[in-house]
Amino acid sequence: MTEEKMRFEAEVSRLLDIVVHSLYSNKDIFLRELISNASDACDKLRYEAIAKPELLAGDAEFKVRLLTDNVRNVLTIADNGIGMNKADLIENLGTIANSGTAKFVEALTKSDKGKDVDLIGQFGVGFYSAFMVANKVEVITKKAGEDQAWKWSSDGKGEYTIGEAEMEGRGTQITLHLSDDFKEFTEEQRLRHIVKTYSDHIGIPVVLMKADGNDETLNEASALWTRSKSEITDEQYNEFYKHNSHAFDDPWKTIHYRAEGAIEYTGLLYLPTMRPFDLYDPARKGHLKLYVRKVFITEGADELLPPWLRFVSGVVDSQDLPLNISREMLQHNPVLTKIKNGLTKKVLSELETASKKDSKGFDTFWEAFGSVVKEGLYEDYTNRDRILKLARFRSTHSDDWTSLADYIERMKDGQKAIYYISGEDIDALKRSPQLEGFAAKGIEVLLLTDPVDEFWLPSVGQFEEKDFKSVTRGGADLNDIKSDDKDDTKDDKKDDAASDASLDALIASIKIALGTNIKDVRESDRLTSSACCLIADETGMDLRMERLMKQHNR
Ligand code: ADP
Ligand code: MG
Repeated sequence: MTEEKMRFEAEVSRLLDIVVHSLYSNKDIFLRELISNASDACDKLRYEAIAKPELLAGDAEFKVRLLTDNVRNVLTIADNGIGMNKADLIENLGTIANSGTAKFVEALTKSDKGKDVDLIGQFGVGFYSAFMVANKVEVITKKAGEDQAWKWSSDGKGEYTIGEAEMEGRGTQITLHLSDDFKEFTEEQRLRHIVKTYSDHIGIPVVLMKADGNDETLNEASALWTRSKSEITDEQYNEFYKHNSHAFDDPWKTIHYRAEGAIEYTGLLYLPTMRPFDLYDPARKGHLKLYVRKVFITEGADELLPPWLRFVSGVVDSQDLPLNISREMLQHNPVLTKIKNGLTKKVLSELETASKKDSKGFDTFWEAFGSVVKEGLYEDYTNRDRILKLARFRSTHSDDWTSLADYIERMKDGQKAIYYISGEDIDALKRSPQLEGFAAKGIEVLLLTDPVDEFWLPSVGQFEEKDFKSVTRGGADLNDIKSDDKDDTKDDKKDDAASDASLDALIASIKIALGTNIKDVRESDRLTSSACCLIADETGMDLRMERLMKQHNR
């Protein structure tokens, strides 16, 4: 039989190098990754078979089988899932399909800190983790509905081969030729323990095949979200999160509930601890999966959660949707709209509780995901007020995060607006001359550094009837606001004395020098130590917005 030799994509070679040399001290996780893929493959076929039952070809009992050979030092993981054809093999096992992993490798390639094991440990490398324990990996696979089987083989050193193969039935068999150091992975006791630890939540049986014919199912084999909360340990919830979300952190919050009444569904939602690399990648797929009565339908659909909650992962299992629903039918489906609203409310109330009971934890969450949540301020009108109450900001008051309610508590007598300044860099903002007058009067100013701030501010406009006002705009009149500092009045007088005729002359000459580059030159009480500063017109664009617009036009 002919075999073709192919080279891995450069990023894969780089990834394999990391996998083999520095990654995870915990080698066990290769098995979790391979079982996870096998389970995904069964989910995919189960979905395809709704429309095309003939794909199951009389083999409808999905399972993952583990076969060991301690003489040849070989471990095989076999599934009867969807399988792969030649094009799938090249696409899936020759490149980096997962956009999160791709971004990660990219970041790693750019920095010289390729040895940063802590960072690396946070990311899943999926299939390629097999090369942590094996010096050769063979994949034999046949796609459901097709006749030709294929064999993929590699030693993980830059190249792989693909050729035709023989196989009964469909699915994928992955054979690991274990390195001498990892003979342990042919031991039953070892495999039993690993599956129990990492893959107990998998919805299909993971079966250890034994020479004496007494095959043993190693996991619980019921979908985790269908079990009752009291029967699920934190470890099981966390492992399911990692499997489901392709994540390597632990979740910050786990929300498991059953909605009853007009519509019925089970939600198992996770809020992550770490921000995924690709949160702003338009091609990123979310990791919230939709099931209908335990049958996987789709993943990451916009119909399930609004984009500003795209970091939420987990599972929603609906009782009310028809089993034969196609992905196309999800759009404008009224049941789904209700589920989406329900999920959004649930996450919001969880965040509200956390913001009150665990403010440190909430601040950390906000640090990682606040810039995404703020998109909801202009995209999700119904939830705007709740989001605004959750929002946290940096300010001139202290180095901690503050809520708008706390800002208002600290407002000065006579202060009518919530003042802010925006720019890229918090330290540069703190040094802005525009802040001097505010600092002198002890008026707090919010320091906004997220690009998204320029978008929600104009559409939100107010919080509790207080306008948001940029300090880089004209007008911001400080005279009405009482100062903290008793000596202030004296300073004011001094300033007044210095003005008049000489100041008018100065202003006139500046105007002549700058010509049409500026709109106006004014005397101002907003500066205390700097001689001058740039401000935007009250009706015109904020300074930063103007800069952003200019960048985009170019
Ligand atoms: P991920 O699971 O995050 O997509 P992996 O590296 O684990 O990344 O797997 C890459 C791809 O290879 C999968 O997305 C899938 O398309 C394919 N694949 C891996 N294992 C199997 C399998 N057992 N059956 C079918 N396809 C598989
Ligand atoms: Mg995987």
